[in-house]
Amino acid sequence: MTLHQNLIAGEWVGSDGVENINPSNTNDVIGVYARAGAEDAKRAIAAAKAAFPAWSRSGILERHAILKKTADEILARKDELGRLLAREEGKTLPEAIGETIRAGQIFDFFAGEALRLAGEVLPSVRPNIGVEITREAVGVVGIITPWNFPIAIPAWKIAPALCYGNTVVFKPAELVPGCAHAIVDILHRAGLPKGVLNLVMGKGSVVGQAMLGSPDLAAITFTGSTGTGKRVAAASIEHNRKFQLEMGGKNPMVVLDDADLTVAVEAAANSGFFSTGQRCTASSRLIVTEGIHDKFVAALTEKLKTLVVDDALKAGTHIGPVVDQSQLSTDTDYIGIGRQEGAKLAFGGETISRDTPGFYLQPTLFTEATNQMRISREEIFGPVAAVIRVKDYDEALSVANDTPFGLSAGIATTSLKHATHFKRNSEAGMVMVNLPTAGVDFHVPFGGRKASSFGSREQGRYAAEFFTVVKTAYTLA
Ligand code: NDP
Repeated sequence: MTLHQNLIAGEWVGSDGVENINPSNTNDVIGVYARAGAEDAKRAIAAAKAAFPAWSRSGILERHAILKKTADEILARKDELGRLLAREEGKTLPEAIGETIRAGQIFDFFAGEALRLAGEVLPSVRPNIGVEITREAVGVVGIITPWNFPIAIPAWKIAPALCYGNTVVFKPAELVPGCAHAIVDILHRAGLPKGVLNLVMGKGSVVGQAMLGSPDLAAITFTGSTGTGKRVAAASIEHNRKFQLEMGGKNPMVVLDDADLTVAVEAAANSGFFSTGQRCTASSRLIVTEGIHDKFVAALTEKLKTLVVDDALKAGTHIGPVVDQSQLSTDTDYIGIGRQEGAKLAFGGETISRDTPGFYLQPTLFTEATNQMRISREEIFGPVAAVIRVKDYDEALSVANDTPFGLSAGIATTSLKHATHFKRNSEAGMVMVNLPTAGVDFHVPFGGRKASSFGSREQGRYAAEFFTVVKTAYTLA
């Protein structure tokens, strides 16, 4: 099998590799991908540092053209790249193609942003002095990404980093090197100068750790677990570098008595179980008021019965496999914990066999859960959700906000009063009314509060806050 290598200083390098395995069929080896070590990370950082002065002063038309060419190729190859994504991560083919299109749209958006870089010119409070406020590139940016969005998350970090003139060292999650390699290959062929974008596939504990320890990284943008995020924060403070963290969630979906039942069930099924529940914006806490509780549970259970769990590439599959054995064990451990804690298993809970060996798990619904149970407080990151019964809207809001996390929150209601109040009073970074908690646009800010996020927002024009530094210049007329 061809070895897919790392890209360092414009050269494809690396001799030994690891197999990339399909979670829908563990006999299917997608490819062999080079594994970088700590020395490779250091060389990549040195290459990015050397490339920074020229790239940060490159013309905006050059940046625009490279990002646009990348967008066009990703969109033209959406079916093939989507298939690769579904094969390595396990989300269904339509979801994977959708994510690939999203990545293309993000590159397209930032291709446009490259042409719209702007500053401000103001009069000084002192006579005969002018003030200019400009944004400059930060320097070498380290990008560390998780496995659950193998093409969209790298896109929403790499595109703005390059757009604003930074150089990049990119370490994808070890489980999904395929999409990472493909996107870097496209950018490289689109004409990026040597060293501007470097790819170091390898273990987080080795390559990621080496990046955290480097004094030459001016910024790190990270998406992943809260535990690793804390390491990124500690190391970044030590090196006085900018950092941005997107971490876990325990997102609430409130369903009120006056909700449209169909809308509520569709939103809960989508948020809780699609993409195998492996989304930081998944809603794993379904907070339901008394009057609609039993009807909602019955309708959601009926809906879950119709969802097909199977090979991500098969037509008709609604839920693909869990990403690997380790995540599957985490999910089944939590199902055991939920039972021990006294929640009622209303649906699912079992691993299942299919034609091919893979990590298949039934969508799992608990009822009669409390917000104090571990299944309600800790992120499971699988197709597992729990219904919490509440008296009324006030209790629903209070339970929704009673969590260490604050990424996304949803409400199903036909009441304008409650929807408006929830939008204002939810302690989440993103609020959805009559929509799933997962599923966001690419041109507006993404991010959370509390333990879910740290630093400025990602995506849309708000990305400039992280990927640039502001300079204020005064000139005597
Ligand atoms: P991890 O934190 O384990 O991994 C994220 C990335 O960090 C991977 O590239 C990983 O490498 C790397 N890493 C691991 N250890 C270190 C280290 N010591 N130093 C530097 N880098 C390191 O999370 P997962 O990939 O398992 O992703 C799942 C988690 O991500 C979930 O908790 C989920 O909620 C969260 N997430 C949050 C999102 C958000 O926007 N808020 C979006 C998507 C996911 P390696 O793969 O080699 O371990």
